[in-house]
Amino acid sequence: MSRERTVPVIHLVGAGPGDPELLTVKAIRAIRQATVLLVDDLVGPGVLRYARHSARIVEVGKRGGCASTPQAFIERLMAAEAARGERVVRLKGGDPFVFGRGGEEVAHLRALGFEVEVVNGITAGLAAATSIGVPLTHRDHAHGVLFITGHARSDSRAAAIDWPSIAAAAAGGITVVVYMGIATTEALQAGLASRLAGATPIAIVQNASLPGQRHAICRLDTLAAVVAEKRFCAPAIIVVGDVVRAAAALATPAEWTDPAPAHAA
Ligand code: SAH
Repeated sequence: MSRERTVPVIHLVGAGPGDPELLTVKAIRAIRQATVLLVDDLVGPGVLRYARHSARIVEVGKRGGCASTPQAFIERLMAAEAARGERVVRLKGGDPFVFGRGGEEVAHLRALGFEVEVVNGITAGLAAATSIGVPLTHRDHAHGVLFITGHARSDSRAAAIDWPSIAAAAAGGITVVVYMGIATTEALQAGLASRLAGATPIAIVQNASLPGQRHAICRLDTLAAVVAEKRFCAPAIIVVGDVVRAAAALATPAEWTDPAPAHAA
């Protein structure tokens, strides 16, 4: 038996928004080679079709508010399996470094002496916008894009969502893409209303790239009402800004949702 001493490599792989056809070639190669896969709950089921039949698949969902596998346990499991010589792939929804805690995992595994390779995935914000034809930085409407979390944490970092600054950026021509914001759309709507017109167009996309994909296009002042009325829920992306008009121009008028026309400006 060979006794070569190589540092085990752990792969942190972005699984994209769900559609397996949106995986990168590198991601597919890593999944094919894996003997152990640790899989987040936002990883589309079709993605696992590339795994070997013999691979061990461990579901480690961590969706906010639900029963979850503690981060420390996930990191320990990855380290233990890699140390035993398994080819470990950690599959994360979207891109591992966009709201995915990939940075924490890489730091921890490197501190333990492992080599970590990170493979990009298509992040949900990009996939959601493209899936309904929103060009995020269409130069007639925007000169940048901001990815933010709308998830108000219950600990002290809740204050980190600086709505006035975000609203000011949006008012200045920056498209805002909100992750984890669907449960807190009232706060989002109120926070942005400080600087943005009520008529600012908004797109909501749930399950982007998956068979259950659905969306609505509305105005800032009807956002929370539309989300409640149409029962949007996670995982969903909210896109705020005039770029949504470019998609709306392609859409049929019926796709514009305005549950309260009396409020129209
Ligand atoms: N690392 C992931 C984001 C993880 S945070 C990425 O880069 O995409 C989880 C949030 O991502 C969800 O609450 C939702 O806002 C968004 N999300 C993930 N998959 C999605 C999908 N298929 N459709 C819409 N939103 C999605």
